[in-house]
Amino acid sequence: MLQNDADIIAGIDVEKVRSDFPLLTRKIYGKPLVYFDNAATSQKPTAVLDALEDYYRKYNANVHRGVHSLSQEATEAYEGARRKVAAYINAAYDHEIIFTRGTTESINLVAATFARKFLKEGDVVLISAMEHHSNIVPWQLVCEEKNAKLEVIAINEHGELLMDDFEKKLTDKVKFVSITYVSNSLGTINPVQEIIKRAHAKNIPVLIDAAQAVVHLPIDVQKLDADFLAFSSHKIYGPTGFGILYGKEEWLNKLPPYQGGGEMIKTVTFEKTIYNDLPYKFEAGTPDIAGAIGLGAAIDYINSHGKDNIFKAEEELLEYAMDALTSVKGLRIVGPLTNRVGSISFLLEGFHPFDVGEILDKQGIAVRTGHHCTQPVMDFFCIPGTVRASLSFYNTREEIDKLVKGLEKARMMLG
Ligand code: PLP
Repeated sequence: MLQNDADIIAGIDVEKVRSDFPLLTRKIYGKPLVYFDNAATSQKPTAVLDALEDYYRKYNANVHRGVHSLSQEATEAYEGARRKVAAYINAAYDHEIIFTRGTTESINLVAATFARKFLKEGDVVLISAMEHHSNIVPWQLVCEEKNAKLEVIAINEHGELLMDDFEKKLTDKVKFVSITYVSNSLGTINPVQEIIKRAHAKNIPVLIDAAQAVVHLPIDVQKLDADFLAFSSHKIYGPTGFGILYGKEEWLNKLPPYQGGGEMIKTVTFEKTIYNDLPYKFEAGTPDIAGAIGLGAAIDYINSHGKDNIFKAEEELLEYAMDALTSVKGLRIVGPLTNRVGSISFLLEGFHPFDVGEILDKQGIAVRTGHHCTQPVMDFFCIPGTVRASLSFYNTREEIDKLVKGLEKARMMLG
């Protein structure tokens, strides 16, 4: 199992990449950090940290409102980030990119505004059994308010979506489908293109939660034909508290504003307010300017390596990790063995995930334990939670070997 290879995976020089991420040099309990909590948040490269600092040190100013040079520089960097995001996911127009606080706010925005205008008593919103809480609770809130019904597409014991059940539940009552591209707790890749196609055949709009997909898979919103797509900056090497809602122009024009305030208006009188054009109609108040610039820098960073190279390197690492982990005695993978990404949930039979996570931490290995904000998934498998090791392209095979050794140690200590 131990393999001291040079770690050039799919053309990516992993050691060189690691030197771009200052935090990866940290020690935990005197041991080199092994960071396997990438699905919760990724580490940030120097290029992103520098971009954030440069903004605050060199051209901090509010956007869109000033004729002075600083404001123009800030506006150019902020709008430049929008163009980078649009290109990254192949949106038809820059104004289809709405800046939000993250995936959670993006989904809340769509749920609240769609429901306000279109959802009626007796209507159905369809989600899946593997959604993150942020793609469940916003819909529960609006369904409760409108006396609509939330229905759930079932999954099987491998953590895969049951497409037959989807077909069965896609009735005329369904007014919206909201589904994750990749499950954060199971690693499953869902057939979202097919889901969108079938929903569109019945004129039903679809939101794709791409919080996990965006860092592992190429996203082309036009090819997918997604009506909405949401993701967070912090999962793709950008800063926290910032994210994206992509919406098709025609849908964004149909929806009412989410919040009121500055920036989202053209004119205000006490009698009537005229709303701003896209994307500003959905961006009330002073935005997270540094967040946008940081995400832009993260996209530049990804592009500097080539996203296809990154995804290929991740796939190879995943294959190595799956082989290594499935060889650990008593380890059970929770989720599919194929058609998946490197968010690997597992259980060491007989031991609580929390205890396993604590022992790994003492060895410098950061994994996540618990329900991963998908309590219904844990209920489905009748388990309290899992240990989740989630990989990034800056992880190495040697780190996976350390995880395997750490798990063997955990089994010995707990057993
Ligand atoms: N959806 C999925 C699939 C996620 O994995 C996450 C975060 O882990 C979210 C939504 C929520 O993202 P955020 O907390 O950045 O809004």
